[in-house]
Amino acid sequence: MRVTADLLRRVPKTDLHCHLDGSVRVQTVWDMAKEQGVRLPASSMEELESLVKIGEDCQNLVQYLKAFDITLSVMQVRESLQRAAYELCEDFARENVRYFEVRFSPILHTLRGLKLTEIVDAVLDGLAQGERAFGVKTGCIICGMRNINPETSMILAELAVAYKNNGVVAFDLAGAEEDYPAKKHREAFFRILNNNINVTIHAGEAYGPESIHQAIHYCGTHRIGHGTRLKEDGDLLNYVNDHRIPLECCISSNVQTRACPSYAQHPIRFYYDYGLRVTVNTDNLLMSDTTVSKELLICHEHLGFSWPEIKDLIIYGFKSAFLPYRDKVKLLNDAIEELRAIDRELNGAEAETTPHAAEVSPTKGGVTY
Ligand SMILES: [Zn+2]
Repeated sequence: MRVTADLLRRVPKTDLHCHLDGSVRVQTVWDMAKEQGVRLPASSMEELESLVKIGEDCQNLVQYLKAFDITLSVMQVRESLQRAAYELCEDFARENVRYFEVRFSPILHTLRGLKLTEIVDAVLDGLAQGERAFGVKTGCIICGMRNINPETSMILAELAVAYKNNGVVAFDLAGAEEDYPAKKHREAFFRILNNNINVTIHAGEAYGPESIHQAIHYCGTHRIGHGTRLKEDGDLLNYVNDHRIPLECCISSNVQTRACPSYAQHPIRFYYDYGLRVTVNTDNLLMSDTTVSKELLICHEHLGFSWPEIKDLIIYGFKSAFLPYRDKVKLLNDAIEELRAIDRELNGAEAETTPHAAEVSPTKGGVTY
């Protein structure tokens, strides 16, 4: 079957790795700066757009990260946090993302005196309103920051504990990977795990497989953010595969920040062929100038993913969601049913089976491990 941008927009999808401060609309940044009297380093919307929507023109990681200073400068009040979360629901619903998890570090939003709880409440309010308005399901992930300090990570972990079952589904560790090892934050993860909360950790993006090893064995992570450099350690690769630890791949972002030299050289192709549970995500809708549909198109055009293989990627996304098991099975079964209907309509025949179909057993309860 011919894979087109239209088809990929139409299919049900997930996004499990998306940063709130990297996924605001340009117009919204512009409006919020005006409303709040924040000075932007741009005198027009067009200029602002060139500074934050970096996309393929990205020169290096510094330029990429600088754009976050701009978005964060206007995300220090309740209204803007709520609006960003609400609009994200609309943007994802428009491209048929059925479930997404958005992450942010509340500590980065305290510059104008907001309390951590006010920040989380504002984001959760926006998500709840967005869920109702656009029929998309959401989860919220709180991030500790590698480059702040372990004490702050502990405070943020406590915050995640307080909001467990109230919109927060997991705890993450983000920020500069080199020189800031995850194991220094292990007490925060110990607290999280002891409260039966999900963990995902950015690892193997700007640093080698040792970082992934720490995320798994010191911090007990259940998923890996990126994992781009996992391929450098075959033994660990097997462990990740054997334990079905999902990788949250963000192809455009990796190429833009130079974690990976080109789309065609992204290891997601090798990981998939090897049998790893790989998922396709955006990282930052704004800075990376992308959508989940675009990322899937990159998989097809640059990495040779066929239609049946793309369906696998989609199914892996649903399987890897930090949702209660029964909710996840339902969402997964709905997505599989919808994919079958699309196949029947466009192929005029029964669905082609997916290469990794053995893993998918919806009639037996859906999610296999
Ligand atoms: Zn990220």
